Order: sequence, then C-alpha cells, then structure tokens
Amino acid sequence: MELMQGQQGVIFDGANVPAARRGHCELSIRNLSVSFDGFKAVDDLSLHIAQDELRVIIGPNGAGKTTLLDMICGKTRPMAGQIFLNDLNLTNLSDFNIVRAGVGRKFQNPSVYEDLSVAENLEISIPRGRGALASLFFRRTKVVKEEIRDMARIVFLDDLLDRRAGHLSHGQKQWLEIGMLLMQAPKLLLLDEPVAGMSPREREQTAELLKVLSVGRSVVVIEHDMDFVRSIAHTVTVLHQGRLLVEGSADEVQADPRVIDVYLGH
Ligand code: ADP
Ligand code: MG
Repeated sequence: MELMQGQQGVIFDGANVPAARRGHCELSIRNLSVSFDGFKAVDDLSLHIAQDELRVIIGPNGAGKTTLLDMICGKTRPMAGQIFLNDLNLTNLSDFNIVRAGVGRKFQNPSVYEDLSVAENLEISIPRGRGALASLFFRRTKVVKEEIRDMARIVFLDDLLDRRAGHLSHGQKQWLEIGMLLMQAPKLLLLDEPVAGMSPREREQTAELLKVLSVGRSVVVIEHDMDFVRSIAHTVTVLHQGRLLVEGSADEVQADPRVIDVYLGH
C-alpha cells in the first residue's frame, strides 16, 4: 500500500499521485555537537537518512538519542554542525518554523487532549495555514470529516472516533498522537520510543504502520525493543557517548562485538 500526501495535505492510501507532487525528503546531519556543562551529549555526529527510509536509532541510556531529536526539532540548539532537510538548513530555525518545514516529533509520553474525542483530537491537528477563507468553513466540510476518518483508519482507531482520548489504552493514545502528527503531513517523522507500553499485538500493528508511513517520507525511530527493531528497521544506527558506534542491518549490529559490549550485553 502506498501512502502519500494529497493536494491539501490529506493522506491518501493507494492514490495515484504523480511522483513530482510527493514531498522529497532527505535528512542530513553534519558534524553535530552539543555539550551540557562541558559534557558532550552529542559529539561530532554525522548521519544521512534517505527518502522512504525508516531508520532506527538504538544505544544505551545517556547515549544522546533524545538530545539528537531535540536538536533536529529545534528544542535544543547545537553548538556545532548543521542539520539539513533537503536543501533547507534547519539548524537555526525556530521550533515553529521547523514544524512548518515538515518535521513532526513524537515525544516519549503520548500527549493527546484527554477530554476530547479521537475525532476532535485529529481535527484540531489539521494545519490552519490552508488559507483564511478555508479555515472559516473547514470544520463543517465533508472533506474534513473524510480526512479524519481516513486518518483514524490508518492508525487503527476508526471504531473509536467518538471515544474520549482519556479512555483509550496507552497504546491507542500513542497511535492517536501519531495520527495527529500525520494530519500535518510531515516530510520527516521523529518518534521517541513509540511502542513503550504497548501489548505484543499493538507492537505488531505499529510495525506495519511505520512501514507504511516511511513511504514518501523519512522516519526516525528511537527504540529499545530489539524484536521490534528487527521487524521494522532498514538500517540501525547505534549511538554511544554521543558518537556513532556502528551502522548496519539489525542482524549486523546485533552480532557486532562493540554493540554487544556497550549495549546489548547488559
Ligand atoms: P538517551 O536519550 O540516549 O538516553 P539523552 O539524549 O537523553 O540520552 O541524554 C544524553 C546525555 O545528555 C545524558 O547524560 C543526559 O543527562 C544529558 N542531557 C540531556 N539533556 C540535557 C539537558 N537539557 N541538560 C543537561 N544535560 C542533559
Ligand atoms: Mg531518551
């Protein structure tokens, strides 16, 4: 199944959209560094993530994984190096402009509006920048309702559109938050431990979801669960002490003595 971005940022699956209309996306991280009180949390790190790629980043606690995502989305300023999304230099943009450039970030704990329904959570995530006139009317349009229903189906919540988000399971909240991010049609999706708190069945479904999502965009996932990593990863990057330790397939990194030594052996 192909998932792509339509004219209004609507997500269609199986739609036949010309390749030129798809958001081309490549993330290029060049010699990135940041220190906290003299401690190098990320140290001269370079990474390249292609369009359609689903990259998993693993590494021991404190390796700098979350800090890396913080720098990509503008929450933490790098002290050296650069971050490019295609030709756009994100390095000194505000977090707001980084979102507008097409970067969606999911934090470790799901943040949804607990008092609103699934449908309402998705609705408020539709970007308002589709023209002032459009925004006056968009709540009532049939197109918006369809867009919400389509998204709920993609994230396995189509039977729960009217359920209050506070009454969803932890895993369903994670899916809802992914759906909310997708409403903004990001070119680059950053997910910090998206299967934390999920049942084995929910993990399997999430693996399928992430594979679909990586088509037409780049996806970066931080994850600990090696079975899950194995089920989704194209390439796995292992971070250690802010630096790139090993990069390769899940099998390659799992068999690598350096990775076993600093991470998997424990
Ligand atoms: P990971 O996500 O790989 O577990 P982090 O990126 O959260 O690691 O943290 C890397 C290191 O940077 C840790 O030693 C952490 O304590 C430190 N660190 C992260 N953010 C900050 C911050 N805002 N201020 C001070 N130290 C921080
Ligand atoms: Mg972390």
